[in-house]
Amino acid sequence: MVIRCSFCGVSSEKSQKIYERKGYSVCSDCLILVREILAEFSKGEVFQGRGRCSFCGEEHSGERLVFRGKNAKICNECVRQGEKEIKGFDSTAAVSSKKSRGEDGLVNSRVRKAIRDLSPYTGPEIECPIKLDGNESPFTLPPDVLDKVLAAITKIPINRYPDPGAVGLRRKLSQITGFPLEGIVLGNGSDELIAMLLITFSGGSGKVLVPMPTFSMFKLSTVALGLEPLSVQLDRYFDIDLGKMLKVLKYNNPDLTFLASPNNPTGNSYSEDRIVGIIENSKGVVVIDEAYTDFCGKSHLPLIDKYENLVVLRTMSKVGFAGIRLGILFARNHLVKEINKVRLPYNINLYSQRIAEVILENLSFVGENIQLVTRERERVFKQLKKIPGIEAFPSDANFILMRVIDAEAVHQELINRGIIVRNFNSPGRLENCLRVTIGTPGENDSFIRALEEIVSPQFS
Ligand code: PMP
Repeated sequence: MVIRCSFCGVSSEKSQKIYERKGYSVCSDCLILVREILAEFSKGEVFQGRGRCSFCGEEHSGERLVFRGKNAKICNECVRQGEKEIKGFDSTAAVSSKKSRGEDGLVNSRVRKAIRDLSPYTGPEIECPIKLDGNESPFTLPPDVLDKVLAAITKIPINRYPDPGAVGLRRKLSQITGFPLEGIVLGNGSDELIAMLLITFSGGSGKVLVPMPTFSMFKLSTVALGLEPLSVQLDRYFDIDLGKMLKVLKYNNPDLTFLASPNNPTGNSYSEDRIVGIIENSKGVVVIDEAYTDFCGKSHLPLIDKYENLVVLRTMSKVGFAGIRLGILFARNHLVKEINKVRLPYNINLYSQRIAEVILENLSFVGENIQLVTRERERVFKQLKKIPGIEAFPSDANFILMRVIDAEAVHQELINRGIIVRNFNSPGRLENCLRVTIGTPGENDSFIRALEEIVSPQFS
């Protein structure tokens, strides 16, 4: 039987040295690596190493630290046990061999410290039959639109560069939104637009303000680009704390402020008067990220007429098209002119341009899917409210944030039942919080049923 390491995926045919327990496996190379990483953890903030070890099944938060890998977690005691049980395990082997020390030297001397200290963006990682962790749409293309997409793809001249300005696609977006063509910039997902904004608008204080908790890429890209992130906690309702934000605006004068409304992972929209308060009191650029706006019907596009410092971001990712990576930026010409200078020439590939055009010519199914997801969100919310021990937060988006008694255990138990949601458990506002994306009605039923089953023994 082929055994795969739950951390790196190597199979037992490649590495005979695998330690197995409770359906999880770890190869000898990963054991060495994990041992070194856990040793590093023990010198730093211990909360990094909390959680339930997949191998012994126990929860650890003190002396015993837990490393979280791709498909499993392992504590230092199980690492030791694995090292003992693997025949011929070389306990003196260390990852910091001569070669890797050379690599470390290069990294330490040439990579900015801010980047070395960053954790990479971790998207959905574990594969489960029911996927409710990525805030994607559960629906693919209807057959008639798929036929049109396929027909369009066959005509694509793959040997040619795409239109650098994606004018055809931008024109369609302009017609649909009523926003001028010159004010629209496209990105390889709104992730790329966030980076473009940070590169463009960092010539003043070099500071970037975000309310927390929010979408992690705002801060991650800020730090990666060598800028200074400033954060202010959201209030107890996850709304903007206007007083604190205004103080930071006044004393730090950030170049950029990012407001995701509806916000991820909290799900709520910010109060309109507070959003306007931020725009009116910012000397820098304010970005309203409307990635989830389709699920609440509110848009800030009309505000661009009034405020020269406002940028609005949207994406096609949440309404069924995450795979084509298409983010859309709206702003006035004086800002767009500068952003376009940092945009890479062919950032939207030919396939994405053509597929998006076909979708925009056939939009009715998208609206129907959005309505269905929105109805399902309300149904799931009501059901969650009925489950003892679950605190569900109201949502304007295509997901719901909830607090459970033990997020690590519930997350793992859902995985055991073939359902993956996103685990946001970390000290502070998101302690024991999980985020579930709204799926098809059947997927949502399975999720609710599984959750009821998992949490009920704690209350009986
Ligand atoms: N903004 C927010 C608030 C998001 O939640 C996400 C996706 N998680 C994005 C932007 C990125 O979207 P895209 O797929 O367009 O890069």
